[in-house]
Amino acid sequence: MNLPAAILLSLFLALSLPATPCFSQGNPTFGYEMFERHGAVMLLIDPAQGTIIDANRAAADFYGYSLDELRRMRIQQINTLSEAQTRQEWELASKESRNYFIFRHRLANGEIRPVEVYSWPITVNGRAVLFSIIHDVSGRETLQQALVESEVRLRQAERVAGVGHWTLDLGRGTYTFSEGAREILGLTGESWAAKDILALIPPDDRKLMEQSRHGLVERGDEYNIKVRFQRPSDGKILDLHSQGFFDPKENLLFGVIHDLTDYTQAMRTLKSRTWRFTAVVSVFVVVQFVAIGLLARAVKKRRLAEQALLEREARLKDSDRLLREKNAELERFTYTVSHDLKSPLVTIQTFLGYLRQDLAANDAVRLDKDVAYIDAAAQRMTLLLDELREFSQVGRVVNEPLRVSFAELTQEALGLVAGRISARGVQVRTQQVDLTLVGDRPRLVALWQNLLENAVKYMGDQAQPLIEVGVDPTREETVFFVRDNGMGIEPRHQEKIFELFKRVDTGGEGTGFGLALVKRIVEVHGGRIWVESEGLGKGSCFFFSLPAAEKYTS
Ligand code: ADP
Repeated sequence: MNLPAAILLSLFLALSLPATPCFSQGNPTFGYEMFERHGAVMLLIDPAQGTIIDANRAAADFYGYSLDELRRMRIQQINTLSEAQTRQEWELASKESRNYFIFRHRLANGEIRPVEVYSWPITVNGRAVLFSIIHDVSGRETLQQALVESEVRLRQAERVAGVGHWTLDLGRGTYTFSEGAREILGLTGESWAAKDILALIPPDDRKLMEQSRHGLVERGDEYNIKVRFQRPSDGKILDLHSQGFFDPKENLLFGVIHDLTDYTQAMRTLKSRTWRFTAVVSVFVVVQFVAIGLLARAVKKRRLAEQALLEREARLKDSDRLLREKNAELERFTYTVSHDLKSPLVTIQTFLGYLRQDLAANDAVRLDKDVAYIDAAAQRMTLLLDELREFSQVGRVVNEPLRVSFAELTQEALGLVAGRISARGVQVRTQQVDLTLVGDRPRLVALWQNLLENAVKYMGDQAQPLIEVGVDPTREETVFFVRDNGMGIEPRHQEKIFELFKRVDTGGEGTGFGLALVKRIVEVHGGRIWVESEGLGKGSCFFFSLPAAEKYTS
């Protein structure tokens, strides 16, 4: 007969015993002393009435009643289970081979405590009583509950995180898995033979796993590996991260597995998406580049067109201005020509009238004078007409362009004016200029000739007449000069003198043609001409450029 069954039997026996007065009323004995002072909660119960015959101090402390109060109470006032429930618990204890019952006892303050009650019948003073030792197991229950709760939480956490834990008993060669691990690996059952688990790992990874396990056990190396695992339930290959530790005392490995399958899949997808994204972006960037390039070209084309348009407009404006200038010049020219040609004609007409009168009067002396005036006027007119023709031919009738050096040009011109120069005793200084021009040679000679002629002509009363010919070294472009220390030109006349037949001093031999011709020759060679003079008696310097003639030099 097992112990709970014996207790049960004793209990039934005890329950049938008659009730007796307080147990402690007898003489104190060693057994009683032990009962009274023992730290464990103890009760003596009348099995028939259920009254508490006696209780020890620990019982008084535990229940919160005084000893006297306890001795007047019945066990049912403490035990919260009904009679039927109590019977059920007895039967359960018997079935589970327990030698204790689990009751719930109410304390004086109303608090209910789970207790383990160890009871057996004894005889005291010839009377059968039920001796009970009561253990408060509320702490244990709380602990158990906490354990259960933490296990539930662990299970939940494992599920949420996709992790599980495992233990490998190296002695037995068996694996045990947590619920989370079983769920990940698709395994059923509590434990698995290590060789069966290894068979589910692809050969390469199996080798790695065995090496890692060996390293962990033999050398304490870190066991932190990635392995693939073929889930037996559906054959799917899982990507696992497994971390392990070695417990040499128990000779077991334990660790955690983490299911990375979704993660690696997601990474793969992400990679392919990233690639696709990069490809799309690259195409987009290339398209943008092309578009920007086309746009830039279109903008450039447009800008060039605008620029060309502006240039054309500017050129049009220039030619318009030039045209106006030419028209004005033509008007002036026509006026000047008609005016200047008119004056010898008027002279001729006037003296023809005198000639008639003097013929009628037969005044031979006056007749000669009249004829001389008419002759002079006709000559002047011839001269003017010759000059006009020459002038109009500049630019229109062009001689074949020839290469001619600066030295040749100036020497030829000086030769043509040599008579005047020596007659006036003028000193001439010609610069050594290494320059070759290509152009209408006779006209270029005429250009220097006219300027040299004027320089001598308008030397005034200069005692030491000097003429300098050369190129101005202070300027960027090639600017030629003919300088004299003669009579000079007032600023107000400095522009006018270049007009046809314009003269500052109307006396003397000139016609006002020379500088107009010079200007025309310069302009035909794309250049410009101007005079600088500080005023009367200060000499003059004529500057001019001939870019078109220079262009051909090499
Ligand atoms: P012309 O010499 O026949 O009068 P130009 O056209 O050669 O005609 O000269 C125009 C005017 O410019 C001259 O009448 C003169 O008053 C002035 N002139 C030209 N060259 C000089 C010079 N080197 N010094 C001073 N005045 C000058």
